Amino acid sequence: MHGPPESQEPCGTFGPDETTGATSTAASRGEARRLPRGGVLWALVDCNNFYASCERLFRPDLKGRPVVVLSNNDGCVIARSAEAKALGVPMGAPEFKVRDMLRAHDVAVFSSNYALYGDLSQRVMRTLATVVPRVEVYSIDEAFIPLPAALAADPVAVGRTLRQRVAQWVGIPVSVGVGPTRTLAKLANRLSKQDSAYGNVFDLTPETVDMDRVLASVDVGDVWGVGRRSAEMLRGRGILTARALRDADPLWVRQRMTVTGWRTQQELRGMPCLTDDDLPVPRRSIRSSRSFGQMVRTLEPLREAVATFTARAVAKARAEGLVASCIEVHIRTPRHTERPRYDETTTITLPCPTADTGLCIRHALTGLERIFREGYLYAKAGVTLFGLEPAAGRQGSLLDLLDGSHEHKARRERLMAALDAVNLRHGRGSIRHGAEGDPGAAWHMSQKYRSPRYTTAWEELPEVLCR
Ligand SMILES: [Mg+2]
Repeated sequence: MHGPPESQEPCGTFGPDETTGATSTAASRGEARRLPRGGVLWALVDCNNFYASCERLFRPDLKGRPVVVLSNNDGCVIARSAEAKALGVPMGAPEFKVRDMLRAHDVAVFSSNYALYGDLSQRVMRTLATVVPRVEVYSIDEAFIPLPAALAADPVAVGRTLRQRVAQWVGIPVSVGVGPTRTLAKLANRLSKQDSAYGNVFDLTPETVDMDRVLASVDVGDVWGVGRRSAEMLRGRGILTARALRDADPLWVRQRMTVTGWRTQQELRGMPCLTDDDLPVPRRSIRSSRSFGQMVRTLEPLREAVATFTARAVAKARAEGLVASCIEVHIRTPRHTERPRYDETTTITLPCPTADTGLCIRHALTGLERIFREGYLYAKAGVTLFGLEPAAGRQGSLLDLLDGSHEHKARRERLMAALDAVNLRHGRGSIRHGAEGDPGAAWHMSQKYRSPRYTTAWEELPEVLCR
């Protein structure tokens, strides 16, 4: 989607020819649909078994045959086709433990190919953008889509169109969940896959389903944004289902689960209250992104922002003992503006998995230059790392040895450890990469009125004068 600004506008090619099958939605019954606050419904589009589907795309002979994809260096199972799931191949299983089983069932095994997955992801997202006015890429295989009133009148038809068009234009199967909030859309997406009767499109709105019954059937741990620890805490209190969480005392939820849990609860109640700055980070990825304090027009401040976010995300990966295989870079103009809008994401596959800040910044900036377009006022940038795996368990690549970079890499690792140690002691950003620019630059989040960080920053300690 690198065309001129006008190509960012919706094509509006949403025709009745594509809305196959009779639907008995509110719209087709001629009923008015009550839209939630904000006037939109949300759809979540999720690619089914994405990596496995990508592998199958160029190998039609694999249709119906179980497919699994392994992590880098062929360590663990990270994706399974429906057939592989049915065989009981566990997610995350080390390859050597399931090798015999894979062989016995003639499973097609692939090493992960992030260059392919990243590119197909972008094709899927671009295809979605030909049907709807706005696509908010959430992860490599998921996007949130706000459905304005005209499309929200018959969301199931829109979902079917999205599914059909992506299947026809890209060849990847997707599922669509619809709900009054992002959290409910996410839940609806999950449900759309559970029963083939839904045809991979599920509308979870009070007009179409019995919300009480549906939410009571969902385990509280399966609610988007409820982590494992929160789920355990909730179960201990007898809150077992999404319905029970929705109906819990909001004050108690806020106390025990902070404002994050409270937002989730509000969203379950159909009140949209997540902004795209506080969406839960997609599973198995690390994200750093922010809206700018002041919008920027040129490449230079965007470079600084992307470098800064990359440095933060990569430092986080190191703190968790992880290396990344891929970097996704995202820039966009404000969501609500009269000016021309632009919203683009690109994926860069790293030559080998790494948690080296300098290297990651270089690749992220290459990605940024690929998607940057002149003539827009940018409001936000973000960097997401995925294809994460433990740094420790990683076998050295033969290539590392061949080009004599083994020693260089060990030196870089020590450098990164020193950088983390200094920043831990003296505060984030005490030592930065030059590319990150001036920490006082205008694009940083505006906090002109922030009180001094009395207790965590040496330079902002309260001063006492004795005479
Ligand atoms: Mg998926």
